[in-house]
Amino acid sequence: MKPTISTAASKIGSSLTLKIFAVCFVSTHIPLLALVIYLFWGFDNNPMPVLGAIVAATLVGTVFSLTAVWMLLRPLHEVAEAMKKYRAVGVVPQISSARSDEVGVVANGVTKLIADLDATLSQLRVQASTDMLTGLGNRRWMKEIGTLEVIRAARENEVVSIIVFDLDHFKSINDEFGHEIGDRVLIAAGATIEQNLRPYDAAARIGGEEFCVVLPRTSAQDAVAVAERLRKSLAVQTVPPLVAGRVTASFGVYCGDARNQTLEDMMAAADQQLYAAKKAGRNTVHWGSANPKDDSMRGRR
Ligand code: GH3
Ligand code: MG
Ligand code: MG
Repeated sequence: MKPTISTAASKIGSSLTLKIFAVCFVSTHIPLLALVIYLFWGFDNNPMPVLGAIVAATLVGTVFSLTAVWMLLRPLHEVAEAMKKYRAVGVVPQISSARSDEVGVVANGVTKLIADLDATLSQLRVQASTDMLTGLGNRRWMKEIGTLEVIRAARENEVVSIIVFDLDHFKSINDEFGHEIGDRVLIAAGATIEQNLRPYDAAARIGGEEFCVVLPRTSAQDAVAVAERLRKSLAVQTVPPLVAGRVTASFGVYCGDARNQTLEDMMAAADQQLYAAKKAGRNTVHWGSANPKDDSMRGRR
C-alpha cells in the first residue's frame, strides 16, 4: 500500500512523539518562512523590516509551540490531578479523551483502571464484611458498626441495646438432616431476621449458628419486644423437610450504658443472658440492663 497524506496524518495523530516533532519543526521554521515570504514580496536594502518580521515571526513561533505543547500534554495533567483526587477522597475520575495518541491511551487507560480497581475494592470490602451464607454482616462488620454505634450513643447520651441469639439444638438438625439442610435453616433464619428489623438495626451472623443485633436508641423494654418478635418468627418458619417449630432460638438481650461500657462489655452481658436462656430450657428471651430503673419491668414480664 502506497503511503498517502491521510495515512501520514493518522500516523501523526496516533503518535505524541510525531506531534511534538511536527510542532517543533513548524515553530522553529516560522521565522525562516517569514523571511522567505518577505523576500518573495520584494527585496529591500533596509534591514529593519526584515529584522522586525523575523522577531515577530519568532514570537509567533514561540507562542505557537508553547500553546501546542500545552494542549498536547493537557490530558496528562488532568489524569495526574484525577489520580491525586482519587487517592485523597476516593472520587473515581470521569476523564474521556478522544485522542488516539499515547496521551489519549494513558488518559483513557488510567481512568478505566481506576474505575475497575474501585469496583473490585468495593466488592472486596463487601465480601470482607458479609456473611456469604445469610447475606447478613459478619463478626468483623458487627464489631466495626457496633463500636461506632456505641460511640455515637455515648456522644448523644442515648441508650443502645444488644441482642445475641443462638439456634437451639442445631447440631441435631445437622446430624439428622445433613449439613445442607442446616445451611438452609441458617439462610432462612437470616431472612427472618432481616424481615423483622428496622433499617437502622445492624444484624450479623457472628458464629456458626449465633447471631447478634445492635439496636440503636432502643430501651430494654423495646429490645425485649424485638427479641420476642424474632423468637416467634423463627419458631413458625418452615424449612422443608423440617416440621414447623423445629427451629427455635434462645435470646440474650442487654440494654447498655454507652458512656461506661464498650460494645464487647455489652455483648458479654447479652451472652450471659443467652446462657441463662439456654439453661432455662431454650426458645426463650432473657434480658438485663445497665439501667437499674429497668428492673421495675421484671414484674410485668
Ligand atoms: P445449643 O442449643 O446448646 O446451642 O446446641 P447446638 O446443637 O445448637 O450447639 P452446638 O454448639 O453443640 O452445635 C452447633 C453446631 O452448628 C455445630 C456445627 O457443626 C454447626 N455449624 C456451625 N456452622 C455451621 C454452618 O455454617 N452450617 C451448618 N450447616 N452447620 C454449622
Ligand atoms: Mg446452638
Ligand atoms: Mg452456638
